[in-house]
Amino acid sequence: MRTLVVFMLTPFLFFAPALSAESARPRIAIGGISHESNSFNPSKTKLADFRRRNTEPFDQVLLEWAKSNDEVSGYIEGAGRLGLELYPGLVAAADPKGPVTDEAFNTLVEELIRRLRSAPRLDGLLLANHGAMVVESYPHGDAEMVRRLRQVFGPAFPIVVTHDFHANISPEIVKDSTALITYKENPHIDTKERGMQAARIMAEIVSGKVKPVQAIAKPPMMYNIVFQYTQVAPLRPIVDESRLLEKNPKILAVSVSGGYQYADVPAMGPSVVVVTDNDPVLAAREAQRVADMLWATRDKIVLNLPDAAPGSANGHGRQHWWRLVGRQHLHFG
Ligand SMILES: [Zn+2]
Repeated sequence: MRTLVVFMLTPFLFFAPALSAESARPRIAIGGISHESNSFNPSKTKLADFRRRNTEPFDQVLLEWAKSNDEVSGYIEGAGRLGLELYPGLVAAADPKGPVTDEAFNTLVEELIRRLRSAPRLDGLLLANHGAMVVESYPHGDAEMVRRLRQVFGPAFPIVVTHDFHANISPEIVKDSTALITYKENPHIDTKERGMQAARIMAEIVSGKVKPVQAIAKPPMMYNIVFQYTQVAPLRPIVDESRLLEKNPKILAVSVSGGYQYADVPAMGPSVVVVTDNDPVLAAREAQRVADMLWATRDKIVLNLPDAAPGSANGHGRQHWWRLVGRQHLHFG
C-alpha cells in the first residue's frame, strides 16, 4: 500500500573534493530548470516560454542572482558564509502550463550540461528545480534531468536538489540525487532558508563531514490543494515534526511536500524525503513514520462537493469553485 525506497551513493565515503591550484575553495555550480506542469492542459510549454537568467557579465551574475528572494539567493548567501566558490550555470523557468515539449527539455538540459562542462573544475551542483515537471516523453522531467546529470558527471559528483512544496517526487530522483529538500511552507515563505540549508549540506559533503543517504515514502493519497496551507492543521503539526527531526545531528533534512494534483503521472501526490548522515535505516524509518502522519490525516481532507446540477442551480457550486481557484492562487508556482 505504501511505498518506501532507500538509496545510498556509496562512493561518497571515499569522496574528496578535487581542489585546483587556482583556488583552495570548493567550486559549486548553480543550475535549475523549473516548471510546474499541468498534464490536463493541452497547451504545451515550449522553449520560447522559458526565461533564462543572465549569465553574463560573469563577475556581476551572482550579485544579480543574489537579489532574488528564493533558493538561488539562499545558495549564494549560504555559500558566502561557508567559503564555497560558486559557478553560475543555467537558471531557467517558465510559467505553469501544459507539459514541456521534448525539444524544450532536451535543449535546456543540454545547455545546462554544456555550461557545467565548460567550468574549469566543479566539485558539486546545487540544482533549483520546481519538481513537478512533466515532459512529453518523461512523466517526471526533473528525475530525467538528474539522471542525465548523474550519467555525465558520475556517481561521486554531489548533486543537491531543492524543490517547491508542490513537487511530485519520484523514487528515481531520490536515487540519483545526493540530497533532496523541498520548501516546508505553503505559501512559500522559506525559499531562501531552504537554499541556505542546501548550501550547508553541500559544504559538509565537499569537506567530507557527511555522507548523505536518503529515503522517500509516499502515502497512497492525494492531498487536495485546499488543505495544503501549512500554517494550520492538518499539515502544521507535520511540518513542525520535520523541523524537530532536523535537530538530530544525524538527520540533515526532512521534507514534507504536498504534491501537485493537476498532473496525471505516477509520482503525483505527497512525499516525505529524509536525508541522514550515512544512516539508511534511520532515513527509511523516519520517512515512513512522517508519511504515516500524513496518511493519518486522510479523514480530515475530504471535500464534500455538491453535484454539478444542484450546485449550479443554487449558486453554491460556483461559489465553491471560486473558493478553490482563490486558494490555488495562494501559492506562487
Ligand atoms: Zn508551489
